Amino acid sequence: MRNKLIAANWKLNPTSRLEAVNLIEGIKTEIKKTSKNPRQEVVLCVPAIYLGLAQSALLGSEIKLGAQNSYLEEKGAFTGEISALMLAEFGVQYVVLGHSERRSLFGETDEMVSKKSQIALRNNLIPILCVGESLEQRENNLTDSVIISQITKSLENNKINGKNLVIAYEPVWAIGTGKTCSSEEANRVCGLIRAEVQKLYSEEIANQTLILYGGSVKASTIEEQMQKSDIDGALVGGASLVIEEFAQIILKSAK
Ligand code: PEP
Repeated sequence: MRNKLIAANWKLNPTSRLEAVNLIEGIKTEIKKTSKNPRQEVVLCVPAIYLGLAQSALLGSEIKLGAQNSYLEEKGAFTGEISALMLAEFGVQYVVLGHSERRSLFGETDEMVSKKSQIALRNNLIPILCVGESLEQRENNLTDSVIISQITKSLENNKINGKNLVIAYEPVWAIGTGKTCSSEEANRVCGLIRAEVQKLYSEEIANQTLILYGGSVKASTIEEQMQKSDIDGALVGGASLVIEEFAQIILKSAK
């Protein structure tokens, strides 16, 4: 049986240090009220500038710390970048890689994602590798080929063991739009991803790899999504910035 993972992607939010601390403290308080499920993990992927304060605020908590990006080299003349080596120093355990916003707004390619992932793995960070089709690709029946291609290329030269990688299926048309993919279809694509991991690695690794769904996840959608055989959790954007909503997502996904 695989664990459940709920990961928050704060994106470029919130805009003040105080709000960031309040958000973390609020989530900690809400989680304490619920009975813990030892098979569930919660990760907060915060903007890089808040990593230090988040590391301190999460001391002694079971909530894990995540980053939203890392560079494809460990160090050197790469102004403005942050490396996996540095993230590890701040107690970061997870890093979101290949998010559709990075791919579409910052020109990130599968090849770059593969290199970033290799460096993250070398520094014992768990990549949360994002893949997903655009609306146009879906409408042209390209979903499966796009996903398979993204998985194959983004994992090239990556040594995966079933515990050191998380994959998030995030249909681009569902991110931040309020439109969720039906849980049947999300489960089908997550199953396709698992089958591809099996082809690239092994059945054992595929069975252990956590595959999340992301795209307008809310407290009202999570229960149904989590009942599906190939969905092991969620990557949550907007709803992770609202303490009670995020707490409900955690609570409902733990059942
Ligand atoms: C995301 O940022 O990965 C995401 C899924 O966002 P939202 O939940 O807001 O759609």
